[in-house]
Amino acid sequence: MKRKIPCFCDNTFTVEVPEEINLDADPRYVEDILAGHFMNFTCGSCGKKHKPEFPIIVKWPSRGRLIEVLPELDRGAFYLRKEEKGRNKSLETVISYPELAERIALIKDGLSTGVVEALKYYLFVKADESCPEGELSVWYNTKTGDDLEFHIHGIKDNEVAVMRVPAAVYEKTLGDYKKNHRAEPFASLQVKSYCSIQNMLRPDELK
Ligand SMILES: [Zn+2]
Repeated sequence: MKRKIPCFCDNTFTVEVPEEINLDADPRYVEDILAGHFMNFTCGSCGKKHKPEFPIIVKWPSRGRLIEVLPELDRGAFYLRKEEKGRNKSLETVISYPELAERIALIKDGLSTGVVEALKYYLFVKADESCPEGELSVWYNTKTGDDLEFHIHGIKDNEVAVMRVPAAVYEKTLGDYKKNHRAEPFASLQVKSYCSIQNMLRPDELK
C-alpha cells in the first residue's frame, strides 16, 4: 500500500510498502532486516534517510512463524487492545523494527524466544545493579560458536557492552522453560501474543 513520508525539508514523498512479506519466498528480506536496512527510504529532495515503522505481517513458513510487527508508536495501544476472537494462536507480536531484527536473528539461530527474553532479563538485572542510573537495554545479537552474544546499551554513552552467555546456561534455561513456562520469569515476559523483556520493564501506566 502507499504511505506518505514527511521530511524535515518540507518535501513529502510517497512510498509503496508491502502489508505482508514471506521470508521463504523473498530471503533477501532476512538480510535486509538483520542489517537494519528494511524499509529505509531516502528523501529525493534532500537525501535524508528515513526509517519509518509501518505495521506489517512477516511470514516465515519454513520456521513455522507468523509475526505481527507493530510500530513502536503503537506500544501503548497494544496493551489496551482487547483480545480478538478467532485470532490465529500462532500469530506472535513484536513491537518496533529493532525487535523484529532481534526476533529474526534468534529464529534464524534456532533459539527459543521465551528463553532468550529470560536471559536478556537476567543480564538486564545484573547490569542495572552495577549501573542503576543508566537507561539500559539488552539485545540478542548473534551466536558466537555455541555461545549466545548479547549487546547491552546505555552503560556508557555511545558504547555497547558485549556479553556472552555460554550454551550450557541457555540449555539449562531451556530446560526450566520446558518444565514450566508459567513459572517466573517466563510468565511475566509474556503478555497476550507478545513475549518481550519490555513487558517486565514497562511503566505502571501500561500495566
Ligand atoms: Zn527531505
